[in-house]
Amino acid sequence: MTHDKLVYYMTALAEYSDRIILEEYALSFEDRSLFHLIITSPGNHSRLEEIRKEHLQLSDPEVSASLDINEMPLVIRLGYSVHGNESSAANASLLVAYYLAASRDEKILNYLDQMVILLDPCLNPDGFNRHASWVNTHKSTVPMTDEISRGFRETWPGGRTNHYWFDLNRDWILVQQPETRGRVDVYQRWMPNVQTDHHEMEAGSSFFYQPGVASRTHPMTPQRTIELTSLIGNYHSKALDDIGSLFFSEERFDDFYYGKGSSYPDVNGSVGILFEQAGVRGFIRETGNGLLTFPFTIRNQVTVSLSTLEASYNLRKELPEHLRSFYQEAIKLAGQNIIKGYIFSEPDDPSRLNHFIDILIKHRIHVYHLNKDYTSGGISFNTSSSFIIPLKQPQYRLIESFFRADKKFSDSIFYDISAWALPYAFNINYHTITSQKTLEDIIGEELYDIPENTGSLPGEMSNIGYLLPWKDYYAPKVLYQLQSAGLVTKVASEPFTFTAGGDQIQLGYGTIFIPVSGQKLEAGEIFQLITKLTKEEGIVFSLAETSHTLSGIDLGSQKLVSIKKPHVLLLTGEDINSQEAGEIWHLLDIRFAIPVTLIEQEQIGYINMNDYNILIMPGGSYNNISLVGQDEIQTWLKNGGTLIAISRANKWLNDIGFTKLKFNTISKDTAMTKSYKDLSRERGAMEIPGSIFNANLDLSHPIGYGMNKYTIPVFKDNTLFVDIAKNPYATPVYYTSDPLLSGFINEKNYKLIDNSAVVIITSVQSGRIISFIENPNFRAFWFGTNKLFINAIFFGQTISQASGE
Ligand SMILES: [Zn+2]
Repeated sequence: MTHDKLVYYMTALAEYSDRIILEEYALSFEDRSLFHLIITSPGNHSRLEEIRKEHLQLSDPEVSASLDINEMPLVIRLGYSVHGNESSAANASLLVAYYLAASRDEKILNYLDQMVILLDPCLNPDGFNRHASWVNTHKSTVPMTDEISRGFRETWPGGRTNHYWFDLNRDWILVQQPETRGRVDVYQRWMPNVQTDHHEMEAGSSFFYQPGVASRTHPMTPQRTIELTSLIGNYHSKALDDIGSLFFSEERFDDFYYGKGSSYPDVNGSVGILFEQAGVRGFIRETGNGLLTFPFTIRNQVTVSLSTLEASYNLRKELPEHLRSFYQEAIKLAGQNIIKGYIFSEPDDPSRLNHFIDILIKHRIHVYHLNKDYTSGGISFNTSSSFIIPLKQPQYRLIESFFRADKKFSDSIFYDISAWALPYAFNINYHTITSQKTLEDIIGEELYDIPENTGSLPGEMSNIGYLLPWKDYYAPKVLYQLQSAGLVTKVASEPFTFTAGGDQIQLGYGTIFIPVSGQKLEAGEIFQLITKLTKEEGIVFSLAETSHTLSGIDLGSQKLVSIKKPHVLLLTGEDINSQEAGEIWHLLDIRFAIPVTLIEQEQIGYINMNDYNILIMPGGSYNNISLVGQDEIQTWLKNGGTLIAISRANKWLNDIGFTKLKFNTISKDTAMTKSYKDLSRERGAMEIPGSIFNANLDLSHPIGYGMNKYTIPVFKDNTLFVDIAKNPYATPVYYTSDPLLSGFINEKNYKLIDNSAVVIITSVQSGRIISFIENPNFRAFWFGTNKLFINAIFFGQTISQASGE
């Protein structure tokens, strides 16, 4: 079934049933509707807003004590197919919706009286549609069950992810994609008591329901959540036994990372339940367990949807009590914490700061202004660019998960990442406040909306030029527009101080200078364009009154280097990490409005590379680039091209001799025997599941332009370790010693990471290869390191080195 058919069906159902209303909450990138059905008795519908508001009070410890939970309907949210190619889920949602709309069974009528059911039939319409097209395209008249058949093997990037190839089931706390942004708004509007998350796993498996592995639960999740998950699990167990479907529980999957649909509820006073059905990915298929049919998989998903409702109905006292006490306890726990609040600041980059605050506010975390300037630990926090989060508030646990930096864990295996501390991801200054008195003394008004950045251009038109500090996150977007207008733009390779309008202004490495003379545009036109950009992008320019500066380089200096507009080729397709590729595409396209030409690796050798000056290779293997293609890249590099390679792409470049990076691996243990049962556990513990490390950053290197700290937190989720280069100028970013900031790493890997390279540059005559050993753009929320990546795109062309080691 395609998504449009699903929409028709649900729209019709909502039209004919007085138990259902349909509510749209977002649009996907491909303009598909994200919506849910609100299903409850007609009586409840007539006072729906009243029910919602009263229910919401359960999560407000200031008023929740007086609520009579005996009379309050539950809120249950059923969520299907966040992974678009796990289609038994979305297909099951139609039957569940119909059943709830049409049933005259007393049991169902009771459910509808006692519950408001939010049924979200398809959480990822774009991916779902890609998958449906693929499967339907390969449909045969005679049932085709052979599992090597093309129909079961979607081509790259498959239907799992959204339009920009993001896994939406990792975005719940990060809220960087429109689908999730709308969904989290709905979630926080309704605060469901139970949320289901219906998935598929490999065809040869059976059925899984949560609870998962208990030792892999996040420490902020209370024990009661796991108990309730188990109680609900008893109902799934019975329902699946009744229809003779095999299942398993309490293994393999976990609830550590809160960015998933089954774990986000756990940190919101709810119970999240993951379901995994063996997926056909077609109509009927041969598997190790015999024939698996699409209807069979749909039936299981329908069955556990209904057992969830039955369990919830029977736990209709326990579930609201849990929601209420979860938030009451949060206040108590916050009171016991020696930390009373977090204060954070980013004076140089209001846009990055706003993205940070955006995440917090989306989850109903209360953020406040300062009422006066404050200094702590040598860092001054001023009222205009600093904010404060008191811990004593309902979302205490989620705040802790965003700010705490755990390094010790009760398990060494993680289904997903082990660290997501937001201040590190955003490279933002923060301090803890341990005195309640201090907190009360400096806390100001609550912030309800993201502050608006107002750009400015102090002064009249210049006949010398304009200066764009490379500090604001969106400076690259502005630079690209200036370059697209045909203007000559230059980058300062040294800092300087000058006076404008009587003020002394210090500008750092990476400042962009737009001279007035020598341009195709008239002085007046340049002024108009810059005035327009300050308003549209909220960016602050400075105006140069003379080429003379007070200190540092003058504006006519050769150390202001002309830079060309980037023309970007991004390699995509089979064998390439679609997540890393999608993150780059999204970053350039959505954030910076820079066009990107997406090509397959096989096209290298058949296109004119001279039309481009940037080639990006996301992690992957590139064995389909022919020898002719390799020669072509080599020639292009020699002529000045900039090749940016991420993570495993650097392995390939080393293998074909383009780079001479020194990769390190763990030396093998001396001969010994171990128990076979420990094999998979030990393998898992050797991974780096996604952890955060501190790195040194050379602020004078083009890769570090615009940054203001000598160290930067870096996210690592691979086991590549590369020595720093022999050329002392070629490793602008490398790990400190003892660099772990947050997350899991085993001892052997930890020895290898000390002082190893994060970014390393290899010169190739006029061109260069910029090797990012880690993925700087992870899940679109690593706003700290993705600036390094953008710097590589704009300033890679200016990097020159004495030797190319
Ligand atoms: Zn899934």
